[in-house]
Amino acid sequence: MRTYPMLIDGQLVNSTEQDQVINPAQGAAFATCARASKAHVDQAVAAAARAYRTWRTDEAVRRQKLNECAAALQAHAGEVAEVLTHEQGKPLNAAMMELYAASMWFSYFANLETRPEVLQDDGEKRIQIVRKPLGVVAAITPWNFPVVLLAWKFAPALLAGNTIVAKPSEFTPLSSLMVAGILKDVLPAGVINVLAGPGAVGAELAGHPEVRKISFTGSVATGKKIMQYAASDLKRVTLELGGNDPAIVLDDVDPNAVLDGLFWGAFTNSGQVCTAIKRLYVHEKVYAPIVDGLVERAKAVKVGDGLEPDTQLGPINNKMQFEKVVGLVDDARQHGARVVAGGAPLSRPGYFYPPTIVTDARAGLRLVDEEQFGTALPVIKYRNLEDVLEEANQTHYGLGGSIWTSDLARGEQLVQRIESGTGWVNQHMDITPFAPFGGCKWSGLGYENGKWGYEEFTDMQVVNAKK
Ligand code: NAD
Repeated sequence: MRTYPMLIDGQLVNSTEQDQVINPAQGAAFATCARASKAHVDQAVAAAARAYRTWRTDEAVRRQKLNECAAALQAHAGEVAEVLTHEQGKPLNAAMMELYAASMWFSYFANLETRPEVLQDDGEKRIQIVRKPLGVVAAITPWNFPVVLLAWKFAPALLAGNTIVAKPSEFTPLSSLMVAGILKDVLPAGVINVLAGPGAVGAELAGHPEVRKISFTGSVATGKKIMQYAASDLKRVTLELGGNDPAIVLDDVDPNAVLDGLFWGAFTNSGQVCTAIKRLYVHEKVYAPIVDGLVERAKAVKVGDGLEPDTQLGPINNKMQFEKVVGLVDDARQHGARVVAGGAPLSRPGYFYPPTIVTDARAGLRLVDEEQFGTALPVIKYRNLEDVLEEANQTHYGLGGSIWTSDLARGEQLVQRIESGTGWVNQHMDITPFAPFGGCKWSGLGYENGKWGYEEFTDMQVVNAKK
């Protein structure tokens, strides 16, 4: 079995302790990787702190290096994508798209315009705001989009002049370790360091006194712990956490115009997207054709090993998540909801659960109230728009939400009543490098992407000069 090393101070580092990595399409281990010890965490943070002294000094060099990172990721996209499919489960073409998206994020930040903001400049004085790097940043990432979510942190943090120690998910460490191996030939030693191991390694890193900021993407439960680790020495935090996004279909839609968007809004990446549609509210007038259209699509989709060329949806990434989805659908069924497509694991090895449509769903069912993060979508019929808007907001989550309508202006108005970081109209999950991405309520704190994402990796300084 191949073993994958970590990157510390420009060196590929192995360890005596190893973790197995499972291919979810087989339910069996296919590779191993190093597991970081406390000493590795200390070495990585020390290397990042040393590299910071030089890396922070020259923005032009940093921009050049970010462009080179973008090119290197493109050049090696195929080999990383294959490993990403092996460890994550997603179809190979989706894995390739993830690599290209990661490359695009590096290019975007390489070219992001940043200049001091001048507040006053007259005969008396000049007051301006400059942005300064923070120092060593810890980047902790989940298993659904390991490569692109790493790029969301690396690119803006590096542009700002920080150095990084990253800890990817123990379910999908290999693609991040490969990215580290590729970028090591572009970046000076210590500028990025990538460790591997379970949550305890993340905790060690997040609590390290030399870490000045923790940029975390993952579950709400871990996000709350991260905030506690940060409190002891007031580290900055960005938290991108879970979601339970509502999509509300109004009575005026043409079902055929919205069905593909609704289906893929819920099931892309086998539903393992923080901003997937996780609760679908449909007006009673269009409920029947919408449900029928979803069922038709669910039954037609090819579920399989991501390495098979015609696969559209891969397995659920890990056993725990698979069992959660199975349990939530069984619970909904036991409490009176109807499973009209899918609803049982495929009888083959691996964690395959076909796209599942659950109708007659309602608030109070766990499948509606909790984040399922998998291939099961509850559909809730409604009559009164005011009631459904209120119900959609009855949650601790606030990541995304959408309105589906043939009246764009009405959609733009109504979506603002959903308590969420992003409100989409007639689409869901559209994310670009230049728009801020983040959640309100328990879905997070702070933003990634665009100038807002860059600013999260800086402190402001007011430079106030008397003329
Ligand atoms: P998770 O919280 O279990 O793990 C995320 C990362 O944190 C992993 O690297 C893990 O090893 C590490 N970790 C675990 N315990 C830790 C601890 N005590 N201290 C430090 N690090 C620790 O989340 P997950 O199951 O990997 O990811 C799924 C969740 O992520 C879902 O809730 C999903 O909605 C959310 N997510 C959010 C976004 C977003 O941008 N808002 C994007 C993707 C995923």
